[in-house]
Amino acid sequence: MKYRCTRDAADIVSFQDAVLKGLSDKGGLYFPMEIPVLEEDFFANIESYSDTEIARKVLAPYVEGSLTSEQLEWVVEETLSFKIPTVRVADDCYILEVFHGPTKAFKDVGARFLSRCLSQFEKKADQDTVVLVATSGDTGSAVAHGFYGVPNVQVKILFPKGKVSPYQEFQMTSLGGNIQAVEVNGTFDDCQAIVKACFDDESLRSKINLSSANSINMARLLPQMLYYFFMYRDIKAQLASKKIVVSVPSGNLGNITAGIIGKHMGLPIERFIAAHNENDTFPKYLQGEAYTPKPSVQTYANAMDVGAPSNYERLAHLYEGNLESMKKDIEGISYTDEQILTEIKATQQDHGYLLDPHAAIGKMALDELVSKDEVGVFVGTAHPQKFSEVIAKVIPDYSGPEVDLSTCEKISMDNSLAAFKKILLS
Ligand SMILES: *Cc1c(COP(=O)(O)O)cnc(C)c1O
Repeated sequence: MKYRCTRDAADIVSFQDAVLKGLSDKGGLYFPMEIPVLEEDFFANIESYSDTEIARKVLAPYVEGSLTSEQLEWVVEETLSFKIPTVRVADDCYILEVFHGPTKAFKDVGARFLSRCLSQFEKKADQDTVVLVATSGDTGSAVAHGFYGVPNVQVKILFPKGKVSPYQEFQMTSLGGNIQAVEVNGTFDDCQAIVKACFDDESLRSKINLSSANSINMARLLPQMLYYFFMYRDIKAQLASKKIVVSVPSGNLGNITAGIIGKHMGLPIERFIAAHNENDTFPKYLQGEAYTPKPSVQTYANAMDVGAPSNYERLAHLYEGNLESMKKDIEGISYTDEQILTEIKATQQDHGYLLDPHAAIGKMALDELVSKDEVGVFVGTAHPQKFSEVIAKVIPDYSGPEVDLSTCEKISMDNSLAAFKKILLS
């Protein structure tokens, strides 16, 4: 499989190069040149496949030429070390629980897959790869755990001071080893700007082998397709003749883009809903406004606090800029913090199911947009324990795990590229 840059049809690279580069030279993203359609037999018999069998089948074409089938088998087995169940919440309403990994959010799958791919590519290199990642919380913790102890790879995580939960900060700063957390006196967008500036800095890139672990990286995005294949396998027998609608709590749009690639491979999902918090750039676009990235605003669903969703560029590429055809596959909607709290409380009371703030948005979107002759699935992107401070506002006796930050290690710096370069080169 070859990948091409969204901004330059002549920039065509292998899977390995797409992963190592992250962003293209022109600042574009890489996207598969073709999306293979899987044979009907596979979907007809999907119940008989295990998680790792599905993963090898679905991902093989995307890594061809860069990983052998033995390497892919190892990567997949390392990646899928926990369950990804689909659980019934109400009639024709299911939650796809992707939060059973080590950091209790779905990003574990992408981070584990990326780190294992890098370790396979890097065997012969004489210089460590330095992985840069900007995070509003969940990416950093997943990358920290996904990359911890992986040979030949150093990780620098930039997070905005005071804007991640204590538990997220603990997950990023407690490991040590090849993982270094850098607290930036600024916002998530500032952290992301510093990472982007490092990639644009030719002289820095000539000194250091830089790679990115943000959701722009194809190796983080692709394995996320698997959730949707597993879900289909697990609820297929309950569908009768109803079609599936999937609501994805979205920020950078990586997870939903992966699901949509799955749909284009033949996975029988009727349509997707991009469910957003008050950062509503993408829903507004789908409703007909010009695409206008905005600064992010802070919400209770903070892993989705993204005002300029980077994977919009991949979706625009996939649909060749045609809004009408994109709208056939994707609807968009957004919700306020107040609505999140009401939903958490109502779902706990009505169905005995405790939602985290992100899943609450997914469920509200589904309840609003699914029709009677469809089966709705929303993605549970984080474990409620991760957001206990929010949940405690409506369920007063709820508490999350205790964390002790006193022994954790982080570097603090001002919002400045120069300050970060000093850290990188020291
Ligand atoms: C990252 C994240 C999201 C948003 O996913 P995107 O792929 O960026 O759209 C949603 N919920 C949680 C809990 C997350 O960690």
